[in-house]
Amino acid sequence: SKTPVGFIGLGNMGNPMAKNLIKHGYPLILYDVFPDVCKEFKEAGEQVASSPADVAEKADRIITMLPSSMNSIEVYSGANGILKKVKKGSLLIDSSTIDPSVSKELAKEVEKMGAVFMDAPVSGGVGAARSGNLTFMVGGVENEFAAAQELLGCMGSNVLYCGAVGSGQSAKICNNMLLAISMIGTAEAMNLGIRSGLDPKLLAKILNMSSGRCWSSDTYNPVPGVMDGVPSSNNYQGGFGTTLMAKDLGLAQDSATSTKTPILLGSVAHQIYRMMCSKGYSKKDFSSVFQYLREEETF
Ligand code: NAD
Repeated sequence: SKTPVGFIGLGNMGNPMAKNLIKHGYPLILYDVFPDVCKEFKEAGEQVASSPADVAEKADRIITMLPSSMNSIEVYSGANGILKKVKKGSLLIDSSTIDPSVSKELAKEVEKMGAVFMDAPVSGGVGAARSGNLTFMVGGVENEFAAAQELLGCMGSNVLYCGAVGSGQSAKICNNMLLAISMIGTAEAMNLGIRSGLDPKLLAKILNMSSGRCWSSDTYNPVPGVMDGVPSSNNYQGGFGTTLMAKDLGLAQDSATSTKTPILLGSVAHQIYRMMCSKGYSKKDFSSVFQYLREEETF
């Protein structure tokens, strides 16, 4: 039988990802600050730990799936963090989308303890997390990549090595900036069509057969009722929170500044998602930008 794997952060993404590891025969040691989310795993016979340090004591391979940089710092370097108990030779994989400079900093601290850190943010959304079809973008020491691949391959169909630690985050930030822009674009186009009298399902079908087609239009359409099984058809619950998208666009701003790169549309997208956060959309899925635009009528 396989040795247990630690999993910290069982939210919208972590929950289905952990389930896929279980399906592949890995016993898990779980932890989340919000204990309710561990309940169903406990009932299914998995072990729940009392802190990230406790996870590190019981498992020498750990995956973390947390909201943002602050949470990763807490889970690794905090008072009851992984680093307090990490065993030499452990493999620590952070799949959260965070600031690449934080990934580099954590990697240094982990290395001091004789363990290995890799950043491995994901793309694909909750649908791909459930079906085990995520894309992982991995940064870290190349000769540790195969060990990471063994676990990540249980949760994703594409596991790509990007380069030194932090480079997975850099790739992910580019993807999410493009996703934010395409989601706002899709929402605008759909809203314009609906206001022009077109049936939303028909319009989506046409876009998806035409040159405007994108993931936001054909896999994650933001208009309620156009597709089943996506957040827009479930009152924008679950999925990828607007605050998380605003965070990723902030990371894009940071890397644009440090690399002296113009990101005009990325900046506008950032402001739109920040405004949504202050107008009651923070916990809704980011495709609720459609609902936000619906509330606006211009002269
Ligand atoms: P989420 O908010 O649904 O889940 C995060 C979980 O982490 C929560 O259960 C929370 O209680 C837990 N947590 C927070 N701080 C903690 C701590 N200190 N110790 C232990 N647990 C802690 O977020 P999510 O949607 O699952 O996203 C996780 C990460 O993946 C984010 O960085 C996000 O940007 C990225 N991501 C999300 C999606 C998506 O579609 N949801 C897709 C790709 C990438």
